[in-house]
Amino acid sequence: MARTLFTGRAGGLSVGVFESFNLGLHVHDDAETVMANRKLLAKLFSLEGLVFMNQTHGTEIAEVHSADGVIPDADAIFTRTKGVGLAVLVADCLPLLLASSSMVAAVHVGRRGLLAGIIQKVIAKFPEDERDQMTAEIGPAICTSCYEVDLATYEEAIAVLPELATNTDLHQLNLVAGAEAILQRSGVSVVVQRICTQENDKYYSFRRSQTTGRQAGVIAL
Ligand SMILES: [Zn+2]
Repeated sequence: MARTLFTGRAGGLSVGVFESFNLGLHVHDDAETVMANRKLLAKLFSLEGLVFMNQTHGTEIAEVHSADGVIPDADAIFTRTKGVGLAVLVADCLPLLLASSSMVAAVHVGRRGLLAGIIQKVIAKFPEDERDQMTAEIGPAICTSCYEVDLATYEEAIAVLPELATNTDLHQLNLVAGAEAILQRSGVSVVVQRICTQENDKYYSFRRSQTTGRQAGVIAL
C-alpha cells in the first residue's frame, strides 16, 4: 500500500513570505532552510530521502530508483522501489499522486501539462494488468472560481478538454474536473481534497502572492 501526504504552510523553518514549510528551492527562499524543511518532511514520512523534480510545465516523465540527490527535469516521476519518496511541488497547480500495487507516481498538473496529456502519459507507464486497481489523490489546489483566464486561453483549453468548461462570461477553468475526467476515462478511481489554495491561507498560492513558497504532495511505496 502506498503512503501519501500533502503538506501545507505550517510546520517548517522558513520565515517572512515563505513562512514556514516552504519546500521550493527555486523561489528565492534561503536554500539551507529549504533543505532543512525537506529533511524534516523526509523524517515525518520516515524516509531517508525524497526525490524532487525541476518542474517545467512540460510532460517529461522520469523513473527514479533511489533518493540520491539527483533532481530530474520532469513534471512527473515514478518509482517501483520501496521507501523512495516522490514529491511534487505546487502553489495552486494540482498535486496528483498515483499508485498501483507495484508502482507510485507524483505528478505536477497545471493547465499546460493537463492539456498536453501528462496524466495519460503517466498512467501509460503503469503495468497494464494493474490499471484497474490504480488509485489517485489530488491535494489542495486552486478552485474553479479562482481560476479565471483570458477568453482565448479559455476557449483553447475547453476545445482540448471540454470538462474544463464553466461559462464564457466568466471564463474560469475547472482544472480538477478536467483531471478527474481523464483519470475516470482510464478507470482510475480518484479522491479529491476540495481545498482551494488561493482562498485558504494555510496553503501557498501563486495567484494570491507571486513571491511565495511551495507545498508538496508526497508518495512512497
Ligand atoms: Zn478558490
